[in-house]
Amino acid sequence: MPVTKKKKRKLAIGDDEVIVLDNVCKSYESGAPALNGVSLRIKRGEFVFIIGGSGSGKSTLIKLLLRELVPTSGSINVLGYDLTRIRHGRIPQFRRKLGIVFQDFRLLPDRNVYENVAFAQRIVQRPRREIRKNVPAILSQVGLAGKYKSKIKRLSGGEQQRVAIARALINRPDILLADEPTGNLDPKNSEEIMALLQKVNEAGTTVLVVTHNGEIVNKMKKRVVALNKGVIISDEEEGEYVNAD
Ligand code: ADP
Ligand code: MG
Repeated sequence: MPVTKKKKRKLAIGDDEVIVLDNVCKSYESGAPALNGVSLRIKRGEFVFIIGGSGSGKSTLIKLLLRELVPTSGSINVLGYDLTRIRHGRIPQFRRKLGIVFQDFRLLPDRNVYENVAFAQRIVQRPRREIRKNVPAILSQVGLAGKYKSKIKRLSGGEQQRVAIARALINRPDILLADEPTGNLDPKNSEEIMALLQKVNEAGTTVLVVTHNGEIVNKMKKRVVALNKGVIISDEEEGEYVNAD
């Protein structure tokens, strides 16, 4: 038998898939692996909840998708970019295709709503004329048309998260990632923010939401991926919130 050289297998990714993880492990310097053999495929246009107890690896997964972290082993492909091999110079171009929203909003508190959203367009050097048109349009989509002059620190939590969503969407990302977007919000605002994320998804953006909000997960009947200690323990269409703590 001839000896065949073992070539590094290229990750197969379907035309309609925007996120593919194959046997991904991520270990930090100490402790058990944060992710331990995660395989996951997400199609363009899907809405997916990621659930799991504290420390189960949810934020690590988000950071890997943003290429803030690289896996210890395994492969990740996002939007056709092989994230284990992507060159550093191409990372900014890749990240522009993603929008990200966090629990703590991460806005510029002393600036107004308009400036916070316009900022994301200035980074990618959109012409001023275009920014002046795009910012009001996106603010009205998130229900903040009248608030563009308000200072961030004068807004409610729900309004701040809407600004963060507008900022994440203004450059028209293919995928919106949200890491516990309703973690700091009351039930009414949480429901409104999730409804907004659903609207964004219906307009064509793939949406991944990390959440602890079982009530909303059960109501929305979306795909639910549950993590426990770095392992996917269930992955169901129209899933329910499972308590994995
Ligand atoms: P989750 O978002 O589900 O709460 P994380 O992905 O933040 O979980 O963390 C998963 C595990 O990895 C936890 O045990 C956590 O302590 C550990 N971890 C996360 N970030 C770091 C880090 N920067 N250095 C060391 N350990 C970390
Ligand atoms: Mg987290």
